[in-house]
Amino acid sequence: MVEQKTATEEIIALEEKYGAHNYHPLPVVLSKGEGVYVWDVEGKKYFDFLSAYSAVNQGHCHPKIIGAMVEQAKTLTLTSRAFYNDVLGEYEKYVCEFFGFDKVLPMNTGAEAVETAIKLCRKWAYEKKGIAEDQAKIIVCDGNFHGRTTTIVSFSNDQVARKNFGPFTSGFINIPYNDIDALEEALKQDNIAGMLVEPIQGEAGVYVPDEGYLKAADKLCKANGVLFIADEVQTGVARTGRLLAVDHENVKPDILILGKALSGGAYPVSAVLANDEVMMVIKPGQHGSTFGGNPIAAKVAIAALEVVKEEKLAEKSEYLGQLFRSEMQKLVDSNDLISKVRGKGLLNAVVINDTEDSSTAWDICLKLRDNGLLAKPTHGNIIRFAPPLVMTEKELMECVVIIKKTIEEFKK
Ligand SMILES: *Cc1c(COP(=O)(O)O)cnc(C)c1O
Repeated sequence: MVEQKTATEEIIALEEKYGAHNYHPLPVVLSKGEGVYVWDVEGKKYFDFLSAYSAVNQGHCHPKIIGAMVEQAKTLTLTSRAFYNDVLGEYEKYVCEFFGFDKVLPMNTGAEAVETAIKLCRKWAYEKKGIAEDQAKIIVCDGNFHGRTTTIVSFSNDQVARKNFGPFTSGFINIPYNDIDALEEALKQDNIAGMLVEPIQGEAGVYVPDEGYLKAADKLCKANGVLFIADEVQTGVARTGRLLAVDHENVKPDILILGKALSGGAYPVSAVLANDEVMMVIKPGQHGSTFGGNPIAAKVAIAALEVVKEEKLAEKSEYLGQLFRSEMQKLVDSNDLISKVRGKGLLNAVVINDTEDSSTAWDICLKLRDNGLLAKPTHGNIIRFAPPLVMTEKELMECVVIIKKTIEEFKK
């Protein structure tokens, strides 16, 4: 007898056979998304509690964003930067005014934007600060996640992300995250050009630094003539209850890195923002990207940011986040399986009370899937909960019920 495979099994088998095995997805095959919901190929509906790592803050297939994308796609898709296009300037003005910077450098992925920020910081250090050639150093934090390029994994502590990818790029100094004394010490070294930091370490497990850390770090950097570079690829665009996570501490980075939700998950759009003193060190031919600043990306990003403003997503994220954490805290207090909840806005995580190498968090995510909610473990035994910000309070409470029920029923 020939065994009948489900559509889900067939599609997973295809990827297994023909795709590189560089990911280990939760076994669910999605074919449709709308707002806070996604549907699998069997027709089952789920709450999306990952939002494509916070790219889909505005909800799946937001009509305004998709409308802008389709219209521009029918008109002009790509000119390259060999020529001007009639949308890029409009977007550049919009995004600079939106975030309060003189200039933007448009790229596509988050990793490219981080690379751009590193290059910009180094060039500034040589040409404005007078650091001797090839001597510039950038301070980074242990547990960081800034992307997957060879330079970026050069300063990662994640051995899985690094092993056998050397030789690595030099010029980085690792210090512990959330440790002002360590930063002060590192800044005593010669030739420091910048500090690159995530305002909350998302990938590492949603580590929120102590209140005042970012403010103090920014102040120390400014006092030492060192650029403070905020990687807000995951935390930016209303995810943490403010437009930017640094806004919680009224910090203005010298270089701001955005990606993910800058397009509402519709298109790869990333950006590096800085004032003229920094950005103007880049001259024609010194950096770029064929697709960076293309007309579709420009239109999509304008629409995605308009949605953030019109639908008050930062305010919603702040309010719903408080509610979510207070509900999860009840679970922490009543159930041994969950030892902690932490986060800001709708970027949250629960810590599972089990060893780092156990499969408990993964197994809980499988049960959550069965119960209609999709989330994924991050490093260690931690589950990140980051739904689209367009969620209503009623929907959030439905999700809380699903999570509580799943945890209460869960048997190791
Ligand atoms: C996702 C992420 C990146 C990398 O973005 P890609 O688009 O995957 O290259 C960089 N920094 C942070 C903080 C991220 O969360």
